[in-house]
Amino acid sequence: MNGEFIPAERGVISVRSHGFSYGTGCFEGIRGYWNEQEQQVYLFRLREHYERLLRSCKILRIELPYSVEDLIEISLELVRRNEQKGDVYLRPVAYKGDEVIGVRLNNLTDHFILTSEPMGNYVDLGGMRCGVSSWRRIDDNAIPARAKITGSYVNAAFAKTEALQNGFDEAIMLTHDGHVSEGSAENIFLIINGELVTPSPSENILLGITRDTVIQLAERELGIKTRERSIDRTELYIADEIFLCGTGAQIAPVVSVDHNPVGKGETGPISKQLQDLYFDVVRGKHDFYRDQWCAAAYS
Ligand code: PMP
Repeated sequence: MNGEFIPAERGVISVRSHGFSYGTGCFEGIRGYWNEQEQQVYLFRLREHYERLLRSCKILRIELPYSVEDLIEISLELVRRNEQKGDVYLRPVAYKGDEVIGVRLNNLTDHFILTSEPMGNYVDLGGMRCGVSSWRRIDDNAIPARAKITGSYVNAAFAKTEALQNGFDEAIMLTHDGHVSEGSAENIFLIINGELVTPSPSENILLGITRDTVIQLAERELGIKTRERSIDRTELYIADEIFLCGTGAQIAPVVSVDHNPVGKGETGPISKQLQDLYFDVVRGKHDFYRDQWCAAAYS
């Protein structure tokens, strides 16, 4: 926290913090996977997460005294100091820490917190039942969706709560002009005629690191191309397969949308292949990707 390693119970912030009152912060969710055979924790795509954090900071006018390299080192050190030997979830937060009343982004002090905790699955990976949300995805000109801003998650919370109360597992949000955007905390992929289709970056999505991982793995390992384009709502009802993906959700197949079965109403073959591949890659079981994407916590 702000340059010091401290016990979690001392990691308290003021009730008057700007970030608490106004949501003026940004964050990341990063997973680390335990590799039993190697007795190692691999933090997945740390560099890309911290590059995105610094882009979110730039949008929020937050200046951290750390480079991407510093943040990578701090993360590995935190896992070691916690002596974590299992799957972990890291949560860096950069926020406006001043105890002032007054809504703005300039002339404020930037604070930084990083926590690491044990974490299992965030959603059910056996097949999600989704509903299209009546809540629209925040627009780039309202709260930029490309930045992972704490306050934006009120939008996600509205959508997720509505979905759960309607008996679904997850929401799929549309943009203001009615195109498919993303889940409450996941990007979305459709499989149509053997190709992956996913909303383009200008559909108010968070440019997910799992999304990028899927695009690369599909192309390189399965020879499947991805089209990034606008997606109509009704394409959700006729796609051959659909899955959600994110650091938390990992690869989560969708078996129905608005009670319409996706394909045969079960996990599709391409989704399954990608899910299996993803779990091998994140756990550091694939040499090529381990070297590129997995940072070892223990020497
Ligand atoms: N969209 C939103 C709104 C999210 O919160 C997340 C989770 N960070 C994602 C997409 C997926 O992003 P990533 O794969 O980088 O975790």
